[in-house]
Amino acid sequence: SQFTDLSLATPILNALKENGYTTPTPIQAQAIPHLLKRRDLLGIAQTGTGKTAAFSLPLLDHLTRHKKHPRERCVRALILTPTRELASQIDANIAKYATHLRISHSVVFGGVGQRPQIHALRRGQDIVTATPGRLLDLMNQGHIRLDQLETFILDEADRMLDMGFIHDIRKVVAKLPPKRHTLLFSATMPKDIDVLAQTLLHNPERVEI
Ligand code: AMP
Repeated sequence: SQFTDLSLATPILNALKENGYTTPTPIQAQAIPHLLKRRDLLGIAQTGTGKTAAFSLPLLDHLTRHKKHPRERCVRALILTPTRELASQIDANIAKYATHLRISHSVVFGGVGQRPQIHALRRGQDIVTATPGRLLDLMNQGHIRLDQLETFILDEADRMLDMGFIHDIRKVVAKLPPKRHTLLFSATMPKDIDVLAQTLLHNPERVEI
């Protein structure tokens, strides 16, 4: 199958073509149809499999088909990831796929000044890719609101738990609306990830590659 067989919005298909993407990777071919239907998803896949596009493309499709002005300090979609390198990579990929869309996206991570991140959040964002510590700092200071959130993506969940982020994740999740679209990606499925998945996901599709 080809990307053009998936019912993604034309500006997204054009961006993929310009980036030389023709064929979906296995995780993309399996996950994208479920995600376009806004089904919750448990994805068992490592980095390098194309999982970033697997979750970003249907997310962009949803945001562009249901355009809304995010309210001040509000975020429509949150991608939580363990490191600032991963957060930057994900945001850079989103920028590539969204070149022909009017979608706002920004990053939130520690080790750099808060000011530019706060400035971007002020007018609201369609997509924020964040690491847990800085996200909680900005939430606690009132610079970011998650009560209007539509999509929550937890990336590299096993690594997050290994890095001791479970309490931070729970604090973030406590602020999310219960009615939302949720995706969890993990390279491995130890018991604690299974437990987390059961608390976060509603009747999920499971995709393993
Ligand atoms: P990821 O696993 O999401 O980090 O993706 C790994 C690399 O593969 C990234 O550099 C992507 O830009 C690239 N990539 C993802 N999906 C495709 C695809 N369907 N065709 C060609 N390259 C891709």
